Amino acid sequence: MTQTLNHFIEGAHTEASDGGRLRLVSPIDEQACGSAASGTAEDVDRAVTAAHAQLEGGAWSRLDGSQRARLLLRLADLVERDTALLADMDAHAIGRSPMEPRMMDVPNAVANLRAAAGWTNQLEGRTVPTAGYMGTPTLSYTLREPVGVVAAIVPWNSPLMITVWKLAGLLAAGCTVVVKPAEETPHSALRLAQLAQEAGFPDGVINVVTGFGDVVGRALCEHPLVAKISFTGSPEAGRAIQRIAAPLFKRVTLELGGKSPQIVFDDASFEGALRGCALGLFVNQGQVCAAGSRILVQRSLAQPFAQALADAARAITVGDPRQPGVQMGPVAKKAQFERVNRYIQTGLDEGAQLLAGGVSRPEKGWFVQPTIFAGATNRMTIAREEIFGPVGTVIPFDTEDEAVALANDSAYGLAATVWTGQLARAHRVAARLKAGAVGVNCWSPLDANLPWGGLKTSGIGREGGLPGALAYTEEKVVTVLLPG
Ligand code: NAD
Repeated sequence: MTQTLNHFIEGAHTEASDGGRLRLVSPIDEQACGSAASGTAEDVDRAVTAAHAQLEGGAWSRLDGSQRARLLLRLADLVERDTALLADMDAHAIGRSPMEPRMMDVPNAVANLRAAAGWTNQLEGRTVPTAGYMGTPTLSYTLREPVGVVAAIVPWNSPLMITVWKLAGLLAAGCTVVVKPAEETPHSALRLAQLAQEAGFPDGVINVVTGFGDVVGRALCEHPLVAKISFTGSPEAGRAIQRIAAPLFKRVTLELGGKSPQIVFDDASFEGALRGCALGLFVNQGQVCAAGSRILVQRSLAQPFAQALADAARAITVGDPRQPGVQMGPVAKKAQFERVNRYIQTGLDEGAQLLAGGVSRPEKGWFVQPTIFAGATNRMTIAREEIFGPVGTVIPFDTEDEAVALANDSAYGLAATVWTGQLARAHRVAARLKAGAVGVNCWSPLDANLPWGGLKTSGIGREGGLPGALAYTEEKVVTVLLPG
């Protein structure tokens, strides 16, 4: 089915100011499957102006926390109602199995919206004891105010869920937004904005401008009325955004990539660790920021564990994810296909032992084989750089100290998993890992009330939970002189 998609600005579907179109291509058969408006700086200006007007005396600015909560709950119900539609939109756009977003992404998005309804009335200020002003007593208190218009820039791998992570916090805080979906996945963000209109959000609170990162994304970052940029994507684009934002003093949250370790100790449940590592490697074709792609295994287990993972990789049925029985679709785009294959070739060139998969030959659709390397070291390129595909690298270790040192020896610090049967070891190791989130005997648990974000090259700031909403506020101080 081909679709013609346009921006959603101030409650209306709108073409690009210059009529430009962005072609959408199915990763399953490489056929054109529609187009979206290719936004311009003028489109961005219209969207930001609409969002700003809602903050400056518009209907949105007059709603209290309870009224915002009611809208968020209505939106959650509508997203839940449209679970299959939204999941299928995201899945088809990137060739993912629709069951995954139906079971994970959309329920997570609904949970975030419902949780956000509870944050709207918790954005409290403080009364602060002070020394007074020139000998006269004072009363000082703080107010939490929305930071302003937010630019929400989103990647293609989990489009709806990541868009909602941003919207939940910023709407709870009373901000307005212009969403810039990834080039490949404009569908669900546009549908979400329409659902928000149906829920009763005033037009202009949630706007969506589709198009290219270096045009729409850049114009959003540069726009003087955008107060905060909430970005999820690659470190390269994150750096470009930082460079734009720094001289303009814009607030920035960056959720970037990862090279997350899964540490398997010899006291862990072999089966449990195997299932968890396979999930962390192969869900969404490995195109997950928290993908557990560095598998550190205690030496006595390393060989059998790597073999079992390779068996699991070979057992995966790769093909058109719309067909019954198919477990893994193609990667999202040609550039991804080339990138993943390039890394697999580098792994071979650097001497890692290939146990399953390998370089995939181009055919119709961007299908890559689930791949497992063993006998690798943490210095190899495949252990250091984010592949963003279904490729796992097994690295042996001897002691707990060595496992922690290897896990932390990375430019990234997004997530980590510890597989162990020892309670004390679990807490000990979790405390020493340099990562934004550590799962013990479970890979990448996500919850609407937990903060999410990384260290080092994995980014700056946190989304999720009440602190995620507070990050969309400014704390203003009011001091009142109290003469006797
Ligand atoms: P990307 O950086 O290429 O694109 C992300 C978004 O940024 C897109 O909407 C794109 O159009 C826009 N963009 C690109 N260049 C820009 C620029 N110069 N200025 C403004 N906007 C720009 O990333 P991608 O390929 O879509 O996503 C994959 C990356 O995202 C991986 O590195 C992955 O780990 C990361 N990611 C991180 C998280 C997280 O929570 N930490 C979640 C999902 C994905």
